[in-house]
Amino acid sequence: MTKVPEMFGCMVFNDKKMQERLPKSTYKALKKTVQDGEPLDISVANVVAAAMKDWAIEMGCTHYTHWFQPMTGITAEKHDSFIAPNGDGVIMEFSGKELIKGEPDASSFPSGGIRATFEARGYTTWDPTSPAFVKDGSLYIPTAFCSYTGEVLDKKTPLLRSMERLSTEAVKILHLLGKTDVTRVTTTVGPEQEYFLIDRDLYNQREDLILTGRTLFGAKAPKGQELDDHYFGAIKTRVAAYMRDLDEELWKLGVLAKTKHNEVAPSQHELAPIFTTSNIANDHNELTMEIMKKTAEKHNLVCLLHEKPFAGVNGSGKHNNWSISTNTGENLLSPGKHPENNLQFQLFLAAVVKAVHEYQDLLRITVASAGNDHRLGAHEAPPAIISMYLGDDLGQLVQSVIDGTEYVSPGKERVKTGVDVLADFRKDTSDRNRTSPFAFTGNKFEFRALGSALNIGCPNYMLNTMVAEELSQFYEALKDSDDIETSVKELIKKVFTEHQAIIFNGDNYADDWVEEAQRRGLYNLKSLPDAFEHFMDKKNVELFLKNKIVTEAEYRARYEIELETYCKQLNIEALTMIDMAKKKITPAVAAFVREMTDTALAKKALSDIIPTSVEEELVMSLSNKLVCFVNKTAELENAVIGAGEHSADGLEYAKYFRNVVFEKMQELRAIGDSMETETASDFWPYPSYTDLLFGV
Ligand code: ADP
Ligand code: MG
Repeated sequence: MTKVPEMFGCMVFNDKKMQERLPKSTYKALKKTVQDGEPLDISVANVVAAAMKDWAIEMGCTHYTHWFQPMTGITAEKHDSFIAPNGDGVIMEFSGKELIKGEPDASSFPSGGIRATFEARGYTTWDPTSPAFVKDGSLYIPTAFCSYTGEVLDKKTPLLRSMERLSTEAVKILHLLGKTDVTRVTTTVGPEQEYFLIDRDLYNQREDLILTGRTLFGAKAPKGQELDDHYFGAIKTRVAAYMRDLDEELWKLGVLAKTKHNEVAPSQHELAPIFTTSNIANDHNELTMEIMKKTAEKHNLVCLLHEKPFAGVNGSGKHNNWSISTNTGENLLSPGKHPENNLQFQLFLAAVVKAVHEYQDLLRITVASAGNDHRLGAHEAPPAIISMYLGDDLGQLVQSVIDGTEYVSPGKERVKTGVDVLADFRKDTSDRNRTSPFAFTGNKFEFRALGSALNIGCPNYMLNTMVAEELSQFYEALKDSDDIETSVKELIKKVFTEHQAIIFNGDNYADDWVEEAQRRGLYNLKSLPDAFEHFMDKKNVELFLKNKIVTEAEYRARYEIELETYCKQLNIEALTMIDMAKKKITPAVAAFVREMTDTALAKKALSDIIPTSVEEELVMSLSNKLVCFVNKTAELENAVIGAGEHSADGLEYAKYFRNVVFEKMQELRAIGDSMETETASDFWPYPSYTDLLFGV
């Protein structure tokens, strides 16, 4: 193994390589674009393209691809070789134009109806703020994706726009506060990624895992996660080898893979990177998920990124650690040693509090998916109710601002002991805040409701935009003040007072929180269709229009696409269950019943004093259950057939799938799992939960 510092980023056309390979003037011009967001010149792009190509060829590449994130949420790529005819042969070419603009056929990517299929054209544009890299013999160029007519068709463009918006508004506020040296503000993200690893041979025997990413049948194993012996437990040899390989692959690609450990459920693990700029974090998280899957193949494992692969044990999430920092190196969400005197911190905190309160429905919407619906509210992930945790210290500070009383920082006492306040915040908050969907963790917020498979682009552009919006309102309220300090204090007090309902420092799993949240007027949107009732609410549409993140048509397209995806996923799950039920489970149980019947008859033929009660009871029980199972299968089939009638309206269609199809799936599963517990494992057609969860 080569040394990590040498290996790190070896597959990336990073700053160091650009510095080495680009003429000084080109490098400087590119840097200006990357750091200050200045538009890029084609002459600069030509030089960069040539240098990139030379490097890529040295790295063994023959092709390049624009790499983008269409509305499917996963990444897309189309590879072009560098060849250009030259006499009898070819030369290797790559122009600035090819670097900047690509033209993949866009017809088969979801567009939510904003683009007819015959208008197939779509463009990809280079995002110079996220470095290009080499993978599988191609040069990968991170890009944004839009249609021929300019409509945004991806997850990346809104994110980049929202980062600009937040920067602009935050800089204006900082200038008001006297920080005129700040010219740019960046949002940073560190996404902690959970996943399951299972044996590939077992996986290949389960069509539910293959087709839907989760088990649709499966009785609970005798052991689950109740002993808490997996969380942070010693990592098994095979898993450790996988993790080592994964780290190396990610480091080579410049991904700051930092922490790895076993998670709560058996066979569940986590990888956390060191945070970076939001759009790079987004690209890196997509890469991480892809490399996780690919590396698993090498180890005859399968990496499951579904939010709920197994019933009865925890599903997988993704914690989105988020903060804002200035180009002068200041973290704007860092309270410092004396948050009570830190008006700048309080003001940014107030912006986040107001944003989360006013747009709680959007935050819920942005994490909604068929898979994640299994987790939210199931006492394993944060509940579906969005609230904010500030911790005791900050919670008291906010309360004292509201009450107009003096805040005595408990941190002060600890400063005497030589422990800095920041560390104290962390210590105090660690345990209880695990139940909060949106928790302050020292110098950042941790949005914990994301599902493991989610593209983090959407939650982050929504979060950035809502905070930018609040900051712009703050600016309007403050800009003409003669006494900025007094005005800021008044504003902070007003905001905390009006929006304190969103702050909840207690146990989010407690039953009385549901009632309390209702009293406070907070939403409790249990499923995707519930949440999507609010997607097109006027205030939400206006948020994105006003801040020029997406147009109304683009916003509506996103709504339609997500609803359509949800229905399609549930439809596939239902059809897979029906297939499994009819072709495998019913025949298997019938065969086992027959075996028991034959045994009983054979015993009787031998002598009528041999007891056959065991066989008879099993035959009776399983025969009854099988009748029920076959009926439930037919009911599910009818439910799926009935869906067509509801398809005219996306939301109605989704509700039908949630309220009718999904309910039938649950009923079918319950009876199926109950039969599994009575059927000999030789007869049961699928690997059991014990095999799957404890098989690696
Ligand atoms: P905690 O103790 O709260 O878990 P860690 O320092 O372990 O905090 O960080 C957890 C995750 O949060 C990591 O991915 C880390 O890189 C990320 N993180 C830390 N600081 C920031 C920040 N300023 N902005 C965004 N993410 C951050
Ligand atoms: Mg965490």
